[in-house]
Amino acid sequence: MGRTKSSMPVMFVGHGNPLNAIEDNEFSAAWKKMAAAVPKPAAILAVSAHWEARGSFVTAMTAPRTIHDFYGFPEELYQVKYQAPGAPAMWERIRDLAAPVRTKPDRAWGLDHGTWSVLVQMFPKADIPVVQLSIDRTADPAGLYDLGQRLRPLRDEGILILGSGNVVHNLRLIDWDGPPFPWATEFDEAVKKAILSGRHKDLVRFDSLGDAAALSINSEEHYLPLLYVLGGMTPDDRPAFYAEKVWGGSVSMRSFIAG
Ligand code: ZN
Repeated sequence: MGRTKSSMPVMFVGHGNPLNAIEDNEFSAAWKKMAAAVPKPAAILAVSAHWEARGSFVTAMTAPRTIHDFYGFPEELYQVKYQAPGAPAMWERIRDLAAPVRTKPDRAWGLDHGTWSVLVQMFPKADIPVVQLSIDRTADPAGLYDLGQRLRPLRDEGILILGSGNVVHNLRLIDWDGPPFPWATEFDEAVKKAILSGRHKDLVRFDSLGDAAALSINSEEHYLPLLYVLGGMTPDDRPAFYAEKVWGGSVSMRSFIAG
């Protein structure tokens, strides 16, 4: 694995519908643009909404499998395999940086669609090693932000920290062809403003942000990857936004790079 000289940015991607993996649409076009804006990473550390665990696990296999963790989609999507190598040694580095937060190696997971549906568009050659870190659902949001801060030095080692979820994600209220719900737009805009002004504490304490936040984060797992990414930012990082759109009424595709 080669080291790059400059520090890597961090990235948050709103992944939305798994079909974005194989469709040429405004979202996949935005992801390609984001990828083109960063130097080639030595490796990618992904935190996906679709890997929740009781603890912080780090994939440590040489060839992570492609997990098709969705139902009722066209066969073509199940045929997609994202065969990027793993980086089994990386978990020891993560263990050292994260301490005293405890991390454990994992050899059973792989790449879930929160990770590969995005990477297959961003880095279609699949030649960059990819490691996933689980969302620890036993930790409080401040603990996840703190872990993101601890992992910040990875950026100086050429590693791209990627969070994949959705700032607004309420599938219970999804309206496939409908306009954005006002609360979804309100919260999405509030998140943008908070990111731009560095008010990370507000974003960590999302449970005190009112009704629009509660409707936007009804199950948390799609929001939480954002906290790792915010933790990975330095005060000097300048965020650039992509795919700023609320899709299906209740899913924000808001994505950004900060570096
Ligand atoms: Zn998802």
